[in-house]
Amino acid sequence: MDSEDLRLAVYRTFAATGREPGPAELAAQLRTGTDEVGVGLRELAAQRHVVLDDDGRIVMAHPFSAVPLGFSVMGRDTLWWGGCAWDSFALPHLLPDQGEMLVATRCPGCDRPHAWNVGTSSPPPGDQVAHFHTPAARMWDDVIRTCAHQRLFCGRECVTDWASRKGTEPGYIMDLSTLWRFAAGWYEGRLDRGYVRRDPATAADYMRSCGLSGSFWGL
Ligand SMILES: [Zn+2]
Ligand SMILES: [Zn+2]
Repeated sequence: MDSEDLRLAVYRTFAATGREPGPAELAAQLRTGTDEVGVGLRELAAQRHVVLDDDGRIVMAHPFSAVPLGFSVMGRDTLWWGGCAWDSFALPHLLPDQGEMLVATRCPGCDRPHAWNVGTSSPPPGDQVAHFHTPAARMWDDVIRTCAHQRLFCGRECVTDWASRKGTEPGYIMDLSTLWRFAAGWYEGRLDRGYVRRDPATAADYMRSCGLSGSFWGL
């Protein structure tokens, strides 16, 4: 079994259905056995194309998530768990045929509900802020926890309240339009055959072009 075939089957199932494919489903699609699928998924996990739980079940294939991390994203006919703020804002760009998507969440600081229509032509209006807690260099130490701590808040005050309640320092705060620009191209190509992850230098150029700066992002 070709590992790129497996990667595409995972990503395209998430894209089309909003949920992760199970091993039997992948084996049937790829005309192989579930053991081969298990080995292939572990390879993809080592390359950070997917995130698996202890039982080998797919938890994330960024920007797709099989588990709730604070966001829902509704397209024209499909509903996804949105992953983190970055992932949720990326889905409309990755799946433009779904039109503007309704991204919904609750502020972790005060539980106030927020929702935006997110499309591909311009950032949604709003003075909410995105908060990233884990610096880029450590994001993959525990990537599910990292995504769970990349959320949208009412404003800086709610981030400060949340951080002091948690006994931690605020991380990196960006406005909605920066988040939208950052999410727009980050996952480009993931649904296409032959996708190659960005190398560190290209990733840094991309981040700078979105207006990010500082050691938090390794820049
Ligand atoms: Zn709030
Ligand atoms: Zn994420």
